[in-house]
Amino acid sequence: MSKYRISLIRGDGTGPEIMEAVMLVLNNTGLDIEWEECIAGESALEKYGTPIPEETIESIKRNKVALKGPITTPVGTGFRSVNVALRQELKLFANVRPVKSFEGVPAKYNNIDLVVVRENTEDLYAGVEHYVDEDKTCAESIRIITKKASERIVRFAFNYARENNRKKVTAVHKANIMKFTDGLFLDTAREIAKDFPDIEFEDRIVDNMAMQLVKNPENFDVIVTTNLFGDILSDLCAGLVGGLGLAPGANIGDEYAVFEAVHGSAPKYKGQYKVNPTAVILASAMMLGYLGEKEWERRIVQAVAETIKEGKYITYDLGGNASTVEMGKRIAEKLLEV
Ligand code: NAD
Repeated sequence: MSKYRISLIRGDGTGPEIMEAVMLVLNNTGLDIEWEECIAGESALEKYGTPIPEETIESIKRNKVALKGPITTPVGTGFRSVNVALRQELKLFANVRPVKSFEGVPAKYNNIDLVVVRENTEDLYAGVEHYVDEDKTCAESIRIITKKASERIVRFAFNYARENNRKKVTAVHKANIMKFTDGLFLDTAREIAKDFPDIEFEDRIVDNMAMQLVKNPENFDVIVTTNLFGDILSDLCAGLVGGLGLAPGANIGDEYAVFEAVHGSAPKYKGQYKVNPTAVILASAMMLGYLGEKEWERRIVQAVAETIKEGKYITYDLGGNASTVEMGKRIAEKLLEV
């Protein structure tokens, strides 16, 4: 029996070509991993008539861990987002998005090393919305924030900070205006912070935070926030360090974890082998760290950093002209040297 059994979703659009590159890197770790291939998204709709087949959910529940390429939400299937549905089904309440500068990337900053911890289950993302009148001239969306989910995500952020030797947690909210919903989130964050006296705690109003992140991103370490603000701020942070091609993410719950890129399936580039495989490669490194393979996590991040710094085999978004697989191959080679 293999040491690890992991569900693998290659994904839609550019997902399968990105996964080719990712596998080159993971194969070079020599780790004994058995992959259980499953599908979701467009490809699943064709085969099973649903974008989230029961087999795929069962596979992840059985193996507890999945590596997932980006998937396209097929239009007209009744799913607002297949990704959101997967997170809800598996109770993946924390979305962890590290944002790190890599030397050699044309970017606004070269000294960023922060993590956005985004609540993944409630807020406006729950999609409780409807038209108020028959003429459809007015619509409303209901934003639900609970103490339970706020406590869970803030505690997760503090534990993450402790385990990863980080010094500060910043809670981001709009409690000055949304006094009940974000007021509840902020009060809860302040309460939980008392259990972690070794970690500095502060809070910021989201609009101010957006400006602070653009002006002084080096001031932040772990950011914890509600679903929609987390969605927006993590893309903002990805932009600060050079774009979506470098941004990995993990969806973590009490029982299961799914690792993926922040970006989507970039369907317009499908089959061109030109998109950057780094985000999913970094997500796979996070997955190994989650499984306890901390040294392999560190080495993959270093191999990525050295490949980008060398600058010979990098994809178009980083200013190069290497293909997806060429960049993956180079990272895989570097992995054996670091
Ligand atoms: P997208 O992230 O797929 O692409 C937006 C643009 O970002 C691309 O056109 C490209 O210019 C750039 N980009 C994205 N990934 C890149 C990479 N690896 N390397 C270089 N450049 C890259 O966003 P979209 O076009 O809004 O969404 C396309 C599909 O993906 C939709 O069906 C959406 O629902 C889905 N999606 C899936 C996920 C996920 O699987 N977690 C996340 C977001 C969007």
